[in-house]
Amino acid sequence: MTKASWIKHIEDKGHFLHPSKAGGVDLSTWKWAVKNHRERDCKECNDRLKTIRANNRRKERDSIMASLGLTKVKGAVSGKTYWE
Ligand SMILES: [Zn+2]
Repeated sequence: MTKASWIKHIEDKGHFLHPSKAGGVDLSTWKWAVKNHRERDCKECNDRLKTIRANNRRKERDSIMASLGLTKVKGAVSGKTYWE
């Protein structure tokens, strides 16, 4: 679940536009909508949660690697990220 598809999901549910868009709602309305959109078995929301959890795990791992003095490098050829 990308941020863009998540925003699209909330827009569809709330029938309004994201604050960053022309004619969009204000930020507090947006946040309220996100908080109040709770549907059981909503695929998008479950995907969103999975993404958040995966991101948190990655951040945690990154900070551990950084604390070991390693630097994150993106391979120029492979495009893969590694630590050195
Ligand atoms: Zn949802």
